[in-house]
Amino acid sequence: MPRFQRIVILTGAGLSAESGLGTFRDKDGLWTKYDLNEVATPEGFARGPDKVLAFYNMRKKVHADVAPNAAHRALARLEEAYPGKVLTITQNIDELHELAGSRNLIHMHGEIYKALCAHCGHRRPWREDFSTTRSCQGCNACGGLRPDVVWFGEMPYRMEEIYAALSRCDLFVSIGTSGTVYPAAGFVIDALQAGAHTVELNLEPSEGVTHFAEARHGKATEIVPAFVEELLGGGHSA
Ligand SMILES: [Zn+2]
Repeated sequence: MPRFQRIVILTGAGLSAESGLGTFRDKDGLWTKYDLNEVATPEGFARGPDKVLAFYNMRKKVHADVAPNAAHRALARLEEAYPGKVLTITQNIDELHELAGSRNLIHMHGEIYKALCAHCGHRRPWREDFSTTRSCQGCNACGGLRPDVVWFGEMPYRMEEIYAALSRCDLFVSIGTSGTVYPAAGFVIDALQAGAHTVELNLEPSEGVTHFAEARHGKATEIVPAFVEELLGGGHSA
């Protein structure tokens, strides 16, 4: 029997940073260059949809040139090879987990390659540029198509499922996340209440590091594969 039966993994921008996708809150992060109130809120979209769509079209171009790194691949391997349940919850809107092979995956903050109609809620895959002139196939209204990403002030996706998984997990691993954005930053507390072992894997100690029973700091492409090998080899002895 493996030590852990039900593993929940939370991933954030730090995981994709080594693939070339920028983080948000570091000194060179996206939110130091763009006003998140203008480009990542429903109010910003209502005020200036062209500006918001241009911001996501720019980000899509960057996303098109990146590939999964060793950390994404290690997590996909864990899901495939581990003799227990592995659920990955990502705050990332990129598709690097899928490209690496993860299948049991929740995109709690949505996906950049999907469009959501602000009028009727219709969702569909959308790889081309966003434009205010495109109409929705669901309601035929123009101008409502937006990226299917969860903006500030909006409720993240699949929260009931997430809290149910946290309440049953026996290992919770937080990878590459700043520990500042709620509700994700509070998941460690839910996992602790469930009696789970908790591990932080991050470049540096996050804001919430004191909540974790165990923490390892370094490059995701190094510490994540090493941690996964320990889990698969049964050598994890925290
Ligand atoms: Zn619609």
